[in-house]
Amino acid sequence: MSNSESEKTTIVIVGAGYGGLSLLNNLSKTVDPQKHSVVLIDARPAFIPLPTTLRLVVSDVDDIMNQAIHPYGDHTFRNKLAGNAKYIHGSVVEIKFGEKENGGSVLLDSGEAVRYNILVLATGSVWPKSIDFPKENRGAIEEFVEARRKEFSKASDILLVGGGAVGIELAGELRDTYPSKSVTLIHREGHLLNATYPQKYRTGLQKQLEARNITVLTGDEITESDASKVSEGHFPETEVVTKNGKKLKADLIIPTWGTHPNTSYLPSDLLSSTGHVKILPTFQLSAHPNIFAFGDIIEWKEQKMAAKASYFHAPKVATNVVEYLRLLEVSGGSGVIDLAASKKSAKYNGSMEMIMITNGKARSFFFRIFSQFVLNGVLFGQAGGMGYFDVLWGIVVGNWLTAMMKSKTLMVSSVPGMTGYTPK
Ligand SMILES: Cc1cc2nc3c(=O)[nH]c(=O)nc-3n(C[C@H](O)[C@H](O)[C@H](O)COP(=O)(O)OP(=O)(O)OC[C@H]3O[C@@H](n4cnc5c(N)ncnc54)[C@H](O)[C@@H]3O)c2cc1C
Repeated sequence: MSNSESEKTTIVIVGAGYGGLSLLNNLSKTVDPQKHSVVLIDARPAFIPLPTTLRLVVSDVDDIMNQAIHPYGDHTFRNKLAGNAKYIHGSVVEIKFGEKENGGSVLLDSGEAVRYNILVLATGSVWPKSIDFPKENRGAIEEFVEARRKEFSKASDILLVGGGAVGIELAGELRDTYPSKSVTLIHREGHLLNATYPQKYRTGLQKQLEARNITVLTGDEITESDASKVSEGHFPETEVVTKNGKKLKADLIIPTWGTHPNTSYLPSDLLSSTGHVKILPTFQLSAHPNIFAFGDIIEWKEQKMAAKASYFHAPKVATNVVEYLRLLEVSGGSGVIDLAASKKSAKYNGSMEMIMITNGKARSFFFRIFSQFVLNGVLFGQAGGMGYFDVLWGIVVGNWLTAMMKSKTLMVSSVPGMTGYTPK
């Protein structure tokens, strides 16, 4: 017999990004809707697959807005959860923790409180302004995209500050759409990215950008006062002088650094000094065993990636949520639940580092010849990018494979599998 709604154990998932949707899809095969209810909360009205967003904000190529930005709705819940779960559009601003297994509630910006027995947090990162999409509705997201495209189209000399993946990929997209604008990328470290990656990969990416007529300045930075001005995107009236004294002409400065975990709704004692959530290998919070966290927000020595959140974290979190529910039922809702001691629990011990960084949408050889010789010598260069896999001696893959796996389509075809939505 089915329990009434108030008798059901409620699992609340906060964040319906790569991690949250993957968890939901895992749970949709295992959770018993007669006994458990699932609530999915996201600050935005639609899933925004981040790897597609830098192409989206630069141009309308491939209709990414319609093909990849999928609304949440009934279609989000499949298998056992179809018709048995609900989505709430709202930002979590605070958590009212209950006594251990008794659960608590999350408070939304609307003032609504949503009760949970088990809470899972997957709220991702706060990204630089160019891809920090609005939350209200689809119209606001579309307006934001239009405004970014206009900003890029008006500028002649674009300075990107921060040579991580966002800066590199944005430079490539800009070169695709604007073959003759000046694009400069400045990065504080001696090589692009960070020391997780081998030097040959970091210098390889730089060479690829330079081959596309993008100026790359490493080991240099803009001054602190300029940096605070550009945190919102900036149109300088005078030239920018870098720390090393280099004068840069720029009429648009775009911050591509400063990504940090989206955890401001949590008290500081649950966070590391970088704002990441401290977790146990079961993805539980040690002070709150009925709360799990995963994806970009966790304190774990690894580069934050969608592939990790989806394929290496989410299945383990799903296993642990289901096992926690079983232990809760066995205990009759009372007593301490020791998930880690259960043989059925899943523990995380890290995953392989791997990354694919695009450098624009790869075009065919014939298109490049055409652009070089027919379009007035316009230099598109060879787009594509480079990938790195931390296996064997550290495998670096070049343009062709990166183009096939990521740059050509930005993996848009995988989005309906996550969202359950079929674009029109
Ligand atoms: C340009 C770019 C390219 C990338 N390319 C790759 C790639 O090729 N491969 C790869 O593996 N990774 C890539 N990444 C990284 C990847 O996108 C992230 O690691 C991944 O999205 C993290 O998943 P997540 O579920 O933790 O967070 P997200 O996918 O960011 O989802 C977080 C969700 O939480 C919601 N949210 C946030 N705060 C709240 C709140 N307070 N209340 C309610 N909801 C909230 C957000 O709206 C969002 O939907 C790329 C990132 C960028 C920016």
